[in-house]
Amino acid sequence: MIQAVARKFSRSWVTAELDCRIMRIGIVGAGIAGLACAARLKDNGIVATLFDKGRRPGGRLSSLCIGGLEWDFGAQYFKVSGAAFAAEVKRWHDRHLVAPWTGGPDGALVGMPSMGGFVAALCQGHDVRLNAEIQRIEADCLGWHISGPGLCDGPFAALIIAVPSEQAATLVSLHDLDMARETTATRSAPCWTVMTAFAEPLSALPHYFRDRGPIAWASRNNSKPARAPTECWVIQASAAWSRAHLERDPTVVAPLLLSAFAAEARADLPTPSFLRAHRWRFGLPYGQRGKVLWNPSLRLGACGDWTVAPAIEGAWQSGVATAQRVVDTLAREQVHAPG
Ligand SMILES: Cc1cc2nc3c(=O)[nH]c(=O)nc-3n(C[C@H](O)[C@H](O)[C@H](O)COP(=O)(O)OP(=O)(O)OC[C@H]3O[C@@H](n4cnc5c(N)ncnc54)[C@H](O)[C@@H]3O)c2cc1C
Repeated sequence: MIQAVARKFSRSWVTAELDCRIMRIGIVGAGIAGLACAARLKDNGIVATLFDKGRRPGGRLSSLCIGGLEWDFGAQYFKVSGAAFAAEVKRWHDRHLVAPWTGGPDGALVGMPSMGGFVAALCQGHDVRLNAEIQRIEADCLGWHISGPGLCDGPFAALIIAVPSEQAATLVSLHDLDMARETTATRSAPCWTVMTAFAEPLSALPHYFRDRGPIAWASRNNSKPARAPTECWVIQASAAWSRAHLERDPTVVAPLLLSAFAAEARADLPTPSFLRAHRWRFGLPYGQRGKVLWNPSLRLGACGDWTVAPAIEGAWQSGVATAQRVVDTLAREQVHAPG
């Protein structure tokens, strides 16, 4: 039945599209994957509208800035391995959107002036709708329609779901069983993260350390380039510790994780001037199969780090690869459409 709907849908859709010469694509999720997808579509002359439930774009690339204190509290830095990503990073570097973190791990790059600021710059030139949670996607002969609280939009010539696998599953499962199966093959490990600040530098500590007991990662945020100078630390718990404390209140988690950090760093910490915990329920995915999830008949796709690799580069690659499938499908349909 899905195939029959797809055939009907596809034929009338192509005609409508070609009559109007409009190719509007919807992207749910304005993290790095959704933004990479939108950028590649734009390079090919295709307009996308991004919808994100957050107050800010970027998803797990997030920064908090309060009264001269600053933390990147999601992704900490990124590295480059593939040639295509290297070329993109060079363009970001030329625009001063990224810089090396000299005190960080070898080859580490960070967003400028923060991870969140970097993503905000990537949004420029795109139609990004914030506070826009998509709860339902539906297709008819005109294309895809999306809706959520106070929001209804469409038709879109294609729809890309660029959210973590668990969240993608609820949106795609009524439409594409194979894609739904792929979403369930991947799971996300949670990550409790603490942001804390001190009046004085913790000068006995290195700029970062990782994998010590319950602490997966801890770093001095102000050792990154262009950050505020006050001593600000990001402390991220291991997946096991985060799972064990998953449903606890952030006000309970924050001092617990701070004490674990003090114990692992073997430091007598002064009283922090700021202490807050954030839970990433869908932190780092595992079980990727490296597939591009694109159904050309339905014109429905899904991307995100969970399809390629649990890092910024993986998310970016997935967005670009999915966009390329959209471009190829639309180009093929234009070629085959009746004159
Ligand atoms: C604590 C932590 C530390 C990390 N450290 C690193 C690191 O050092 N280096 C590195 O390379 N990677 C790191 N990562 C991984 C990296 O952050 C991710 O791989 C990458 O940001 C994923 O991007 P994405 O676009 O796939 O997903 P996301 O960033 O999760 O973006 C998905 C977006 O979809 C939105 N969304 C979800 N559901 C809906 C809906 N129904 N409607 C509308 N919008 C919706 C969300 O608000 C979000 O903005 C880290 C991740 C975490 C959590």
